[in-house]
Amino acid sequence: MASPPVDIPAKLEIDELLERNRAYAASTHKSLPPLMNILGGDAKKNGPHIVVVSCLDSRANPYEVLGFKPYEIICIRNVSGRVTPALIDIATLDAFFHINQIIVLHHTNCGVTHLTPERGLNDLLSKCPDLTPKQAQYAKELSPIRSDDDNWLKADLKILRETPYLRKEIAESAVGLYLDVKTGLVREVNDRTLI
Ligand SMILES: [Zn+2]
Repeated sequence: MASPPVDIPAKLEIDELLERNRAYAASTHKSLPPLMNILGGDAKKNGPHIVVVSCLDSRANPYEVLGFKPYEIICIRNVSGRVTPALIDIATLDAFFHINQIIVLHHTNCGVTHLTPERGLNDLLSKCPDLTPKQAQYAKELSPIRSDDDNWLKADLKILRETPYLRKEIAESAVGLYLDVKTGLVREVNDRTLI
């Protein structure tokens, strides 16, 4: 089998991590004022107001792909960029900030598209045979496994529109973007035809 084109460690020693951290602290780190000072004492008014939900894949970094500056957005990254695991996070953020917009970013060639829901569930059951049927069903419902097409992004927008956990204004603001990791270009995916 061909070697991967990038060096991916199997494991890292804590000493190396501490060394990396010392180098970061000495060269890159900028000490910033306390959070409420940055926000002028009013998180609701001064934001940030935009939440981006994206896959954690390094090829789909919203700050790079969409040119966001630090503090311009709040970025929630998870496996595949599905919105269900992020709903309570967004609701919590809206309790502190005032969220105006949600951007959901999915991408082509996502790792999860190389799995099937059946394979994911079977793997889980083989490793955790004591799971109850209810627990297995819960895992299946929360599974991020999807295929490489727009339908799951449309489904995530629908979930946002219909969730009872978010203000209707936030849900209405949600937009979906699909990133082609080959070209680096994103296009908007509209779910309105589903509603
Ligand atoms: Zn991905």
